[in-house]
Amino acid sequence: MADNWQEGRCLCGAIRFRLAAPPKWTALCHCESCRRSASAPIVAWMGFDPEHVTWTGERSFYKSSEIATRGFCGRCGSQISFESTRWPGEIHLYAACLDDPEAYAPQLHCHTGERLSWLHISDDLPQFPASAELDQGAQP
Ligand SMILES: [Zn+2]
Ligand SMILES: [Zn+2]
Repeated sequence: MADNWQEGRCLCGAIRFRLAAPPKWTALCHCESCRRSASAPIVAWMGFDPEHVTWTGERSFYKSSEIATRGFCGRCGSQISFESTRWPGEIHLYAACLDDPEAYAPQLHCHTGERLSWLHISDDLPQFPASAELDQGAQP
């Protein structure tokens, strides 16, 4: 594992993060909550230990559900992080924020039960109708 896997930022650059290690898991999420918060049909997620993420700049926070808190840039509005009591000791970041998003490799699709009908999946990655954790008892 590299000491400095990658860095990332919001649209305006007021918030930056540095990642000390590659993601523990990656997933493409089709759920409505991700879709609405990102204003995008799908979100490419990465999961990290919070101690592997070093922040520059102050995140703003929105509690999107009883268990979920979404971090964003108060200046440009970019979504930047997701934390949930369902996955304690873990922080989820958006692959699209990476300085080099091409370095990202998705492992699976989750919440495909909420997938938009006009978004067609043509890869061979596993698909889970809900979260992968609920469907197989593993990572989200
Ligand atoms: Zn910003
Ligand atoms: Zn989601």
